[in-house]
Amino acid sequence: MKIVKKNISCSIPEGFVQEIHKIVGKNGVITNPSDMTPYLEETRGIYVGASPAIIRPKDTLQVSKIVAMCSKENIGIVPQGGNTGLCGGGVASGELIINLERMNEIRSIDTINYTITVDAGCILSDLQRVSEENDRFFPLSLGAEGSCQIGGNLSTNAGGTSVLRYGNARELALGLEVVLSDGRIWNGLSGLRKDNTGYDLKQLFIGAEGTLGIITGAVLKLFPLPRERQTVFVANKDLESILKLLSLARNCSGDTVSAFEFIPRIGIDLSLKHMPETVDPLSDKHDWYTLIEFESGTSGNGLDKVMEMFLNEALENNLIIDGVIAQSEEQRHKLWFIREAMVLAQKPEGASIKNDISVPISKIPDFISKADKVVKKICPGIRPIAFGHIGDGNVHYNLQQPLDIEEESFMSLRENLNESIMDLVQSLGGSFSAEHGIGILKVPEMVIYKTKIELELMKLLKDTLDPNNILNPGKIL
Ligand SMILES: Cc1cc2nc3c(=O)[nH]c(=O)nc-3n(C[C@H](O)[C@H](O)[C@H](O)COP(=O)(O)OP(=O)(O)OC[C@H]3O[C@@H](n4cnc5c(N)ncnc54)[C@H](O)[C@@H]3O)c2cc1C
Repeated sequence: MKIVKKNISCSIPEGFVQEIHKIVGKNGVITNPSDMTPYLEETRGIYVGASPAIIRPKDTLQVSKIVAMCSKENIGIVPQGGNTGLCGGGVASGELIINLERMNEIRSIDTINYTITVDAGCILSDLQRVSEENDRFFPLSLGAEGSCQIGGNLSTNAGGTSVLRYGNARELALGLEVVLSDGRIWNGLSGLRKDNTGYDLKQLFIGAEGTLGIITGAVLKLFPLPRERQTVFVANKDLESILKLLSLARNCSGDTVSAFEFIPRIGIDLSLKHMPETVDPLSDKHDWYTLIEFESGTSGNGLDKVMEMFLNEALENNLIIDGVIAQSEEQRHKLWFIREAMVLAQKPEGASIKNDISVPISKIPDFISKADKVVKKICPGIRPIAFGHIGDGNVHYNLQQPLDIEEESFMSLRENLNESIMDLVQSLGGSFSAEHGIGILKVPEMVIYKTKIELELMKLLKDTLDPNNILNPGKIL
């Protein structure tokens, strides 16, 4: 366990927080230690932060004023959304935390332009709901959608389960509003799909994890609301057949595959053990499973027949062994629950080392078989759990401790295990962080696996946009 709890590193001038209080009003500042806890601890319990205060502005102007004050006094800031990030990007080590939870308005929705304009503090599931109420679809979807904020999603360039069809957060943003490190507001809230007028500035802030500016608003792409979905859970004998199945699914369905997730048997076993609502969907046990969803913007046009054709062809070609099609929304949720429960079910099983890597899709079987061999050599009895968004080449390669060793002695192997996996990822042309970002957790990997010129360019951007290094210092670089 890694605890970051430095002494308050930036000294806050006397009366500074009181001045901020005047800007944000009554409920805008939290300094009571017990009320601060949820903002200081993160999802995985790896880090516990420290901050003089949690600041909760109500609008962009308030953010701008606070940042201008911090800039003048050289005070560090950690922008924070729902605090669901998995790399410690929202953890403060003495800086002020600016949490955007009170900036949660849907500013406007333009159904003709297929865009929605929102405050950055909007909860992702609220955004999905409002889009749906307006007969439109916002496709970003991930396990933390009930608490993460769109500003956090954009800042981590979140992926999730529908990247295959709709792209990640970066591809869903048309415009941004950003407060810069000196407090100026850049209003880039454009809903244009075509705008070739120089550098695409919004891209600088997407995936920047709050190190280049604070995203306060966004214009996002909407899509026609899916009218019909077909969801199937199938068993596969090996990873090679899962990849062939992916190609078949894309070809058979006219590329309407909206999700393609793989799950190992150990994931189902752990869910059955720790998550009481889990149901084993098939009667026999198999090594691998895939959860596949087809989506169509029209209904009654035979998506069920398309699914049937696809499954028949898959069976004929031995790409699947068995399967179950969701017959109702309730059954669909049960199938998705297995995918989500297996993440939570890893916690009660002891220590787990998480990896979020990507390799070219075709290299996934090679990666998993080589990685399994390497980690088992370092730690006999280790339980690798490889799962995730296989349709995007994204594997969550989690390592569960052996049953017969102490948590601490397993965690002492962390560096050795991770280094071997990351070297393998690198040799296969992959990335050491597919969708979770860098935060503090992956800073050492940046130094090892990014080229000198990439790091120099990033540093140049950081120095230009945040010359005093007040925005999320110590993250990414
Ligand atoms: C159960 C679970 C499932 C998850 N599944 C996925 C998944 O499938 N795919 C995926 O990509 N991620 C996933 N995540 C990770 C996490 O949910 C995402 O990274 C999410 O996008 C973070 O949003 P947040 O609002 O919680 O951001 P936070 O955790 O608060 O912050 C994340 C980073 O963004 C910065 N930040 C936040 N808001 C702003 C802002 N307005 N302006 C500038 N910087 C800001 C922070 O400083 C920090 O560096 C999952 C997490 C959990 C707990």
